[in-house]
Amino acid sequence: MHELSVASEIVRVAVREAERRGAKRVKSVHLVVGKLTHLSKEQLTFCYNVLKKGTILKGSKIVIREQEPKVECSSCGYLGPIGEVSDGEAGLWAVSLSCPRCGGVVKVKEGLECRIDAIKMVVP
Ligand SMILES: [Zn+2]
Repeated sequence: MHELSVASEIVRVAVREAERRGAKRVKSVHLVVGKLTHLSKEQLTFCYNVLKKGTILKGSKIVIREQEPKVECSSCGYLGPIGEVSDGEAGLWAVSLSCPRCGGVVKVKEGLECRIDAIKMVVP
């Protein structure tokens, strides 16, 4: 399960940040997760809630914001959402990585990230 390794990395970074700032406790950890990562919000939340036990994060919650995919086309300069089709199966996204304007090859600018946006903590 990919979510478990992602969640443990998040917990590790959040604990380190909280300790570095001398936090008394952490209220919430805010994540930005690109939709192209195919990470499940539910699984991430579940793993986080298991892993936070026994750490400074134990009273905190995880808040996940999903980032819509965005691509850039080098042929025509298009910058925006990709043509996307939800296949309706297990919430997976079928995405076409060609430019919706000219059909050229695009580069993914957003939608593949998984990063901590903010950590809300109580500092004495
Ligand atoms: Zn294009």
